[in-house]
Amino acid sequence: MKPYREMSKEELASLKEQLEAVYKEYQGKNLSLNMARGKPCKEQLDLSLPMMDVLNSSSDYISADGDVRNYGILTGIQEAKELMGAMMDAPAENIVMYGNASLTLMFDTVSRAWTHGVCGSTPWCKLDKVKFLCPVPGYDRHFAITQYFGIEMINIPMTADGPDMDLVEKYVNNDETVKGIWCVPLYSNPSGQSYSDETVKRFANLKPAAKDFRIIWDNAYCVHHLHPDHPDHILDILSECAKAGNPDMVYKIGSTAKITFPGSAISAIATSKANIEDMKKQMNVQFISHDKINQLRHVRFFKNLDGIKAQMAKHAAILCPKFEAVDEILNKELAGLEIGKWTKPNGGYFVSFDSLDGCAKAIVAKCKDAGVVMTGAGATYPYGKDPHDSNIRIAPSFPTLEDLKLAAEIFCVCVKLVSIDKLLAE
Ligand code: PMP
Repeated sequence: MKPYREMSKEELASLKEQLEAVYKEYQGKNLSLNMARGKPCKEQLDLSLPMMDVLNSSSDYISADGDVRNYGILTGIQEAKELMGAMMDAPAENIVMYGNASLTLMFDTVSRAWTHGVCGSTPWCKLDKVKFLCPVPGYDRHFAITQYFGIEMINIPMTADGPDMDLVEKYVNNDETVKGIWCVPLYSNPSGQSYSDETVKRFANLKPAAKDFRIIWDNAYCVHHLHPDHPDHILDILSECAKAGNPDMVYKIGSTAKITFPGSAISAIATSKANIEDMKKQMNVQFISHDKINQLRHVRFFKNLDGIKAQMAKHAAILCPKFEAVDEILNKELAGLEIGKWTKPNGGYFVSFDSLDGCAKAIVAKCKDAGVVMTGAGATYPYGKDPHDSNIRIAPSFPTLEDLKLAAEIFCVCVKLVSIDKLLAE
């Protein structure tokens, strides 16, 4: 089929009539499908059930740091630091174990800077203006944290190599109210891009106007390859920062949320010794330790990085057909029509779809009226405001393959109908 823009109004109107009939048929089925959040599906969760058997009432609960059943061991057990360090490409001595989810860790990191400052600098709450850079499209929960503290968010467009580094350098190196940036460097949420070596090096070589500027390097998808035989690679930002004379500039974050159980994961931060000492001042007051039994359970289950990789290959075998199915259907239905573009990621949890400008909200609403729930349009931008109203995040992991295919077909019908309306109104 030719691009919609090359069709006459009559052709478009007749196409619209046919598509409306198809849409009505879907509506009549009273469907309840969901492509909204990046949750693992049941089969993926089942992969980690054997972990629940590695510790029981006859196990020993002794770690290298002592009995995990009791108070203490503030920064986590050594074995967990080694496991997470291997996964996060950082030495165990630079790791602090945190709680059941990395989101809390990121929230606490911003919160601490807000109330008490970073390594002795003025608390951000005492400053007239605090700004954060936000590569877009990005992760809504990152943006929610900075919005909660009243931090002004600045959109930074993503390119194929990661965030637009000319803009990042311009802001960070010249504006001392810019205190941080959110990054998802590997299989970014939602666009699936991975940062090039050049981008990582440019990050490491920033010359921040603010001495308390920090990069929050959320490596949530560090082992989440869809094709483990040809994964994307990124440079280690911690050692690049150290080489560039910026050893304290980055907080590298990770968790096992989408490896074992979201909400019952172990999380960790890898950062400089100075930053660790700074964090510990708060941690000492906030808790005595995190869940060390869960740390030991994860360590005994995985043993080492190879154990994690083997688990991730099983996840990939479940996820791959789902990502393939979405891509196949989008291609079959939309290729050549010039009414949408989408990503084909090599890992992570999302496909990012860009409709014609001004259509995303209407597409998501139309999907909902046919029983398909998508992530809210705008969610991938700070303040929920997509300046082009074009980005939609597709999350293929949770539905069954059969439901997912149906949801993707309905999505395409909605994209076509909304695009035709736009073109007819022009
Ligand atoms: N960071 C990113 C980029 C994510 O996509 C997600 C999950 N959607 C998280 C963090 C959440 O991880 P956790 O469950 O460890 O808080």
